[in-house]
Amino acid sequence: MSFQWNDCNGSFHPDSAVDFLPEEQLRALQLQRLRATVMRAYDNVELMQKRMDDIGIKPDDLRSLDDIRRLPFTQKIDLRDTYPYGLFAVPMSEVVRLHASSGTTGKPIVVGYTHADMETWKNVIVRSLAATGLHRGDILQNAYGYGLFTGGLGLHYGAEALGAAVIPISGGNSDRQIMIMRDFGVTAISCTPSYFIHLIEHGASMGVDLKKLPLRVGVFGAEPWSEEMRCYIQREANIQAFDIYGLSEIIGPGVGIECRCQNGIHIFEDHFLFEILDAETGEPVPDGEEGELVLTTLSKQAMPIIRYRTHDITRVIPTRCDCGRSIRRIARISRRSDDMLIIRGVNVFPSQIEAALLKVEQTLPHYQIIVRRDRDMDDMEIRIEVTADVFSDRVSEIEKIAARLSHAVESTTGIRAKISLVEPHTIQRSEGKAKRVLDLRKLDAPKH
Ligand SMILES: [Zn+2]
Repeated sequence: MSFQWNDCNGSFHPDSAVDFLPEEQLRALQLQRLRATVMRAYDNVELMQKRMDDIGIKPDDLRSLDDIRRLPFTQKIDLRDTYPYGLFAVPMSEVVRLHASSGTTGKPIVVGYTHADMETWKNVIVRSLAATGLHRGDILQNAYGYGLFTGGLGLHYGAEALGAAVIPISGGNSDRQIMIMRDFGVTAISCTPSYFIHLIEHGASMGVDLKKLPLRVGVFGAEPWSEEMRCYIQREANIQAFDIYGLSEIIGPGVGIECRCQNGIHIFEDHFLFEILDAETGEPVPDGEEGELVLTTLSKQAMPIIRYRTHDITRVIPTRCDCGRSIRRIARISRRSDDMLIIRGVNVFPSQIEAALLKVEQTLPHYQIIVRRDRDMDDMEIRIEVTADVFSDRVSEIEKIAARLSHAVESTTGIRAKISLVEPHTIQRSEGKAKRVLDLRKLDAPKH
């Protein structure tokens, strides 16, 4: 099979060659690595061995990639229950890095990396950034948080290995972010999409128009965001905005990324094996249908993870991408199964609401969904910022926009919501992941 490199204006990085591996070779590599991973987990992780023994399967029973379906799932709770090091497959003398997620309740989950794992991480970040068209000479402002969160340091070493000049600015201090972006001639930025939107506005308040800066690429992740949000970012900052996918339990950022075609996330399949399953039954869904993304690490040494239930809802895009990469794509994660709100018995996803809101003109991508319960009846209010000129218009204009928004939400979700239009900069900004949903029903519930 011939080698393909059709990436429009893309620069070549040698590490990206694996992205174009012929299908047959890729599957053979996956099987070989899967067998080694399962063996490592079985031999070194008590929980894995017990679970496999319970259902009577041995690592040697894996003869094809389809046999992965015989293996037990791993859930987030398994990481909590074995806190801190119970899923590690190597002695601590081999671990060179620890990260932890800031759990909302109780203890965090802990993940570890060997030297080889750090090399893998670097490799997938190099390939991620190369896929967006970044290369040696680019100046990357890494505004993901540095620290226990995997975002900042995760991106850092790969960006350096690519040959970009990395500014390890971390999150927060928006005045300084804008000053550095302008003065240092920054060409790329990485952070959450909601923080970047905040930076666009913050720049404007300082008299800095991001559209006029050399900035051309944004690498955004760590929270679900809609296509409408992407359009807004690309228009308001005159950049190309790419969705990077990852989670700490698997490696951190770099499980996959969009290429310059911006049509789905390529998963680095030589390191991560993915399945898309019916979230209820755990059975595979047909190609192209939505289901829960389940991931298995294929090269992780410190913490091999088998069949991790991500709760991210997506579908495989079965056709070959125009860029020529043979590694497959999944649709951008628009929602998580555990994000789902049940309002008056109807399933509603915040991302559906976001998409509906941003289709209406004069809205800004800052909103908050507030759910209350009043006399056993669920009540949804959406607060959304609109452009300042809306408030200078007549009251009837304001009412018209509110009506349009209400209609947009109702036709998408089937739920009638109270719409509150608020002035720009009213809703609290976040330096990391945005808090879009305030579900007050749990707080209101009577205590027994
Ligand atoms: Zn592609």
